[in-house]
Amino acid sequence: GLHRALLVQLTRYGLDQYLIVTRDVTQVEKLETTRKDFVANVSHELRTPLTVLSGFLETLRDLPEDSLSEEQKQRYQSLMLEQAQRMQAIVADLLTLSTLESSPNTEGEPVRVAQLVRTALAQGRILSNDQHVFVENIADDLCVIGVETELASAVSNLLTNAIRYTPKDGTITVSWYITESGHACYSVQDTGIGIASQDIPRLTERFYRVDRGRSRATGGTGLGLAITKHVAMRHNAELTIHSRLGAGSLFSLVFPPSRVARADG
Ligand code: ADP
Repeated sequence: GLHRALLVQLTRYGLDQYLIVTRDVTQVEKLETTRKDFVANVSHELRTPLTVLSGFLETLRDLPEDSLSEEQKQRYQSLMLEQAQRMQAIVADLLTLSTLESSPNTEGEPVRVAQLVRTALAQGRILSNDQHVFVENIADDLCVIGVETELASAVSNLLTNAIRYTPKDGTITVSWYITESGHACYSVQDTGIGIASQDIPRLTERFYRVDRGRSRATGGTGLGLAITKHVAMRHNAELTIHSRLGAGSLFSLVFPPSRVARADG
């Protein structure tokens, strides 16, 4: 398609000098489609909880007074709150993505990733509700040069996913270590549902989910891996995904030696 879409502008400069300006229209068209898809996706993602929410509100409004028990009222309220929180989570992730896209790359400063991992693990245990076994393998003095808030969101996204997509009694192994080649590696391995190989390349697309229902039910926005991929790129890191359907997954972030430092004390 590249040839078809090459737009060539010739501007004559003097006798035999030409300035040739080529523009890859395919690329421009593709970007435009992506942008349109994205707007459509965002609208769809937000419309679903909004529809549910206004449905509940209408029902409540139209019910005769005192027709609901205290318990029923509370159930309605928590269902409505859930929808509002869904929208909040989507909007928060969208803002994170747009900040990542629009802010210039900064070198950052040495970040003790072990601390971020421990914070994520503490929150992860709450989300897991004691349903999983956690194994930790964390190098304490290892630092990555980068932006702490960005690294924190990548660290917690991978862990949260492992918890979401691993059934009860599964094991989640969280590692943070330096490799023989001097790369720093954060990895999260789970014994969960796994991912079919044809789905793996698409996971970092915005709103791409293998199983919409499951992602929604567990509070996923469909943006976590898109954010993680961005953070990785901004830190010259590689996001790698290994998985087998029904067996589990291994997600890793590998930072180049140039990004690695040791803590002072
Ligand atoms: P979500 O909010 O839906 O979890 P993500 O961008 O974080 O969105 O992940 C995209 C999709 O990748 C998920 O919906 C899920 O289908 C799949 N996925 C991510 N992590 C895992 C994992 N550890 N095990 C199995 N599937 C996963």
